[in-house]
Amino acid sequence: MDERTKVLVRARAEGRCEYCQILQSLYPDFVFHVEHVVARQHGGVDLPSNLALACHLCNGVIALQPGGNMRYFVSSVFKYAKSEAN
Ligand SMILES: [Zn+2]
Repeated sequence: MDERTKVLVRARAEGRCEYCQILQSLYPDFVFHVEHVVARQHGGVDLPSNLALACHLCNGVIALQPGGNMRYFVSSVFKYAKSEAN
């Protein structure tokens, strides 16, 4: 993916991991990367609609999966964690 696309995705994310929504500014030690939602090896394309800004935790979860769309899975986990906390 080109730099322009990465800049666009980072701007859209407004400094948050697009999976778990944590703010990059609150976790300066976390490395955030622009990642493919559907991996290239599974047919994912280099378009903003298939890219997401991800913290290293979400990036790690995604990397362990055999492919496919992890956005729903990860956001569900964090919604569950939030509801448990209340
Ligand atoms: Zn995250």
